[in-house]
Amino acid sequence: MTTTPVALTLNAGSSSLKFGLFDISGAPAVMAVGQIDSIGKAPRLKASFGPGRSPVSRDLTPAEAADHKSALATALAVLREAFPRAKASAVGHRVVHGGPSYDRPMVLTPEVMEELRRLSPFAPIHQPHNLAGIDAAVEAFPEALQVACFDTAFHRTHPKVNDVFALPREYYDKGVRRYGFHGLSYDYISGELKRIAPLIHEGRVIVAHLGNGASMCGMIGGRSVASTMGFTALDGLPMGTRTGQIDPGVIFYMVQQEGMSIDEVRQLFYSKSGLLGLSGLSNDMRALEAAGTVEANEAIDYFVFRIRRELGGLAAALGGLDALVFCGGIGENSRLIRERVCEGMGWIGLELDRERNGRNDTVISTDMSRARVMVVPTNEELVIARAAKDFLDTRG
Ligand code: ADP
Repeated sequence: MTTTPVALTLNAGSSSLKFGLFDISGAPAVMAVGQIDSIGKAPRLKASFGPGRSPVSRDLTPAEAADHKSALATALAVLREAFPRAKASAVGHRVVHGGPSYDRPMVLTPEVMEELRRLSPFAPIHQPHNLAGIDAAVEAFPEALQVACFDTAFHRTHPKVNDVFALPREYYDKGVRRYGFHGLSYDYISGELKRIAPLIHEGRVIVAHLGNGASMCGMIGGRSVASTMGFTALDGLPMGTRTGQIDPGVIFYMVQQEGMSIDEVRQLFYSKSGLLGLSGLSNDMRALEAAGTVEANEAIDYFVFRIRRELGGLAAALGGLDALVFCGGIGENSRLIRERVCEGMGWIGLELDRERNGRNDTVISTDMSRARVMVVPTNEELVIARAAKDFLDTRG
């Protein structure tokens, strides 16, 4: 009896584990996707298994997801119950940091793992969790090919001028650079544009990945030229709980005048700021749109203002604009945010069609708009599954 070749994808965040199962006998086709949130606190599982099967959504006992290792065991048990015969021949991992040199996915050898551990100080909140996820997967699937896909890799094409900070040169050599993140999402969108709008793909495109984490990327010919995130995933746009761009002088003030420790400032910038901090209400855009309070509206105003500012800046870096693409939970679903971002943007060639925007069409600009505005749902898991399949195929 032959079984279908299957790839497992894992995306381990600081308190979550997203997972996917893909049939890779041909182009990867999703069999299941799911996630476990609030690992170590009040864990919750959600998973769906395609048409004809009921999704799962339930609270977990603390022991079922006390840490990433037990969360992975729980996720695997759920997948095994749904697909008892599936056996992963490859596991693809989302890894936040690939440093200056990894510009594509890598098979995880001991040498690559060593390099990724060395990069941990550059992403102290995320990289250790990614590596813990890899260790747990190697233990669970000792015979499977383990592949790492990096959030930074897509941006390795950007020019040096967008790779440096104006610091003494020794820090660049030590790795203090503008890496850029959300690369798996941008990679997916670039591939989709090539498929559905090849002429646009060849041109100057700005992609706005607006989710809980948010960033924008300017591309020419489908390759990254500039992005709003830099050394860490804190820079650029305000996010659910992250500040986005902020004058570094605020850090000195917090430490020297407010008496905060560096860890407290980090916690403030990563977890208490952004939409949550400004609104005093929620990090969730749906909640803010529904709230209608002065504070919630101000948080939305700031989010939109920064997107529009970056749009102008990235268009200047690209030398013009042929298309703006929205993706991520907010970009794909919020008509209001898309409308407000595009309002009065005729000077840059954008003219939104309100009806198309209201319908969440793929193209939401008018036929007369000089630059196209599009909504393209992103799929980071599929990018990981493709990389895993490619490596398996080339290894025969
Ligand atoms: P993550 O970065 O965690 O993957 P997502 O891409 O899932 O996040 O995006 C989550 C964000 O998308 C939340 O702020 C959520 O409120 C927002 N969102 C989802 N659906 C809608 C909607 N219909 N309208 C407005 N915002 C939405």
